[in-house]
Amino acid sequence: MKPRECLARVDAVRRLSPEILEVDLRLEEPTALEFAAGQWVSVPFGPKTVRAYSIASTPQFPTRLTLCADVAPGGIGSEWFRGLQPGDPVRFKGPLGGFVFTRADPRRPLFVAEEIGIVPIRAILTELYATGFGRRATLAYWARDPGWLAYDAAFRSLARRYPGFAYHPAVAGAAGAARDGASRLAETVTRLVADVTGLVAYVCGSESMIHRVRDVLVAKGLDRKSVKWEKFW
Ligand SMILES: Cc1cc2nc3c(=O)[nH]c(=O)nc-3n(C[C@H](O)[C@H](O)[C@H](O)COP(=O)(O)OP(=O)(O)OC[C@H]3O[C@@H](n4cnc5c(N)ncnc54)[C@H](O)[C@@H]3O)c2cc1C
Repeated sequence: MKPRECLARVDAVRRLSPEILEVDLRLEEPTALEFAAGQWVSVPFGPKTVRAYSIASTPQFPTRLTLCADVAPGGIGSEWFRGLQPGDPVRFKGPLGGFVFTRADPRRPLFVAEEIGIVPIRAILTELYATGFGRRATLAYWARDPGWLAYDAAFRSLARRYPGFAYHPAVAGAAGAARDGASRLAETVTRLVADVTGLVAYVCGSESMIHRVRDVLVAKGLDRKSVKWEKFW
């Protein structure tokens, strides 16, 4: 799947919460894009300025991509995303990146997401369970408050339908718990992971959270290479 320049058109815009927007793009050139769940596209804003957006939808729908953004950072990418309207053309390059789950990998995946870092993990988990992945998987997901837990209802539904899927959402407000995502996810992973044998971790969010979670897993004996990560900020 070599990255290529693509042209798409905005089909629909949805507001998942005041500052989380989802946009459906219908591919025009090419009319379908092959990609792996977890990959991202690069949107150009100038000769040396791009912003990356993970594909929130799954490869089962190659003619229509969904992107999902936290527009609170307020920079060039957020402003562009906020302004998208149905019918707008969108140019991007993709698919890019290696934050993908290999189905042939026999290890048990632990997914860890901080706020909008959920996007590639949403694509991976949706695709896995939609295509008959019967094995165990765990998701630890933190956001500042329930309104920032994008896709929470879908993960709860997945956990009800698939007993092998363990979902552990957390928000900052809980009494006695750490208030920041890095500390809270490090605590959650410390509690959830008793044995790292046969484990592979997929961690997405801020750099500080990725370091904290990786340190916990490595201290428990997991090989560093078994912690795959995608740094959003
Ligand atoms: C591989 C990859 C995939 C990505 N996928 C997504 C995605 O699917 N959805 C998405 O919303 N973003 C995603 N990002 C982040 C995205 O590319 C932009 O960085 C983000 O949208 C902010 O861009 P901006 O121009 O508005 O702000 P910038 O001017 O780039 O950033 C302003 C400040 O906000 C910080 N920041 C950026 N994002 C966040 C955040 N979410 N929370 C807290 N602080 C932040 C930056 O470090 C900077 O200090 C991804 C990044 C990478 C590298």
